[in-house]
Amino acid sequence: MSKKHQPAKAIQKVKQFGEFGGVNPSITDSATFTFLGAETMLDTFEGEAEGCFLYSRHWNPTNKYLADTLAKMEDTESAWVTASGMAAITNTILQLCNSGDHIVSSITTYGGTYAFFMNYLKKFNITTTLVDITDLEAVKAAIKPNTKILYTETMTNPLLQISDIPGLSKIAKEKDVKLVVDNTFTPMIVSPAVLGADVVVYSMTKFINGKNDCVAGAICASNDFINALSSVNDGTSMLLGPALDPMRSASILKNLHTLHIRMKQHSHNAAYLAKKFADYKELKIIYPGQEDCKGYKLLRDMKNHGFGYGGMIAIDLGTPEKASEFMESLQDKGVGYLAVSLGYFATIFSNSGSSTSSEVPIETQHKMGLSPGLVRFSVGLDHDIKATWKLIKETLKEMKIEK
Ligand SMILES: *Cc1c(COP(=O)(O)O)cnc(C)c1O
Repeated sequence: MSKKHQPAKAIQKVKQFGEFGGVNPSITDSATFTFLGAETMLDTFEGEAEGCFLYSRHWNPTNKYLADTLAKMEDTESAWVTASGMAAITNTILQLCNSGDHIVSSITTYGGTYAFFMNYLKKFNITTTLVDITDLEAVKAAIKPNTKILYTETMTNPLLQISDIPGLSKIAKEKDVKLVVDNTFTPMIVSPAVLGADVVVYSMTKFINGKNDCVAGAICASNDFINALSSVNDGTSMLLGPALDPMRSASILKNLHTLHIRMKQHSHNAAYLAKKFADYKELKIIYPGQEDCKGYKLLRDMKNHGFGYGGMIAIDLGTPEKASEFMESLQDKGVGYLAVSLGYFATIFSNSGSSTSSEVPIETQHKMGLSPGLVRFSVGLDHDIKATWKLIKETLKEMKIEK
């Protein structure tokens, strides 16, 4: 496995200047662009005028600054930014699949992705087989002659399983299908394209932006794929039009430049809390940075150096009632917010089965091992995590949860 890629260094090397030498690139708040000659406009439509912009649903200079920086982070040739993570996912899928095609996906994925595969894609007669993504033999066996995509999340939502990206990439190459990886939980930590993924998708709403002030997404892939997505004649993104607002792009780009520091701190704090939680035998805890966690070795071998094991922890309280009591008490004490989403500077927690995975039918939740009492924690950037733990400990004591 290659660990040579250094995403933080790659981003630091990007030099983008504003129109008047500003240290931040200028924001282009224009929907359309003038041409000095009519001929150049025609060439731009045909994708042959390098450096010319046509219309902001296609490309906007500010979106390109952000996309270029993301491509450097992922070590892909190119990238494309979208108005949401779901837009990045759905556009990628629709670009790669035609009516009658088939997808093999991890059974544990983000709820919206699950609903898109199982409900929405019926419209196009595209079917999906769900598999335990950690069972490579099962993955291989599920691939059919009409399979176009092998889909997974590096660290799956909400069970924090770890996907063996090099292993999945090998299968994808053998079977001539595209490996699409949602890396939303582990930016900087894992570089899926370096490990063999064909397309990397992100909800930038989460860690990448990290401020919970907008919804956005990204697709990182080859030049050919991004050009196909943005083709004026048949490109999914050009024609469905989930363009990100350039004002937002500019603000996300500035946040992207602090991502490496934030990921380190999220990981540090999560590792601290996970270790403390692990002392409580009554609680089942999943943190991929803990040696007894199933995905630990895999993540250890795949991860880039210096960003830890991520900011996500899953804790099983047993029942939804206990989960609610736990979360309400933590919110009262100021530990964080009872809310969906993740990757925020403050801690966020939610009961997965009844919130972000509620699109997944109960039987499937059982099948994937999702307990109704599971609380997903996105650990924040707290300066004094020991003080945070003291508050959590009080809640555990009040709930009579013993070591
Ligand atoms: C939130 C999330 C999405 C969807 O992203 P939006 O920005 O909300 O559209 C997709 N995948 C994962 C893993 C997510 O956490």
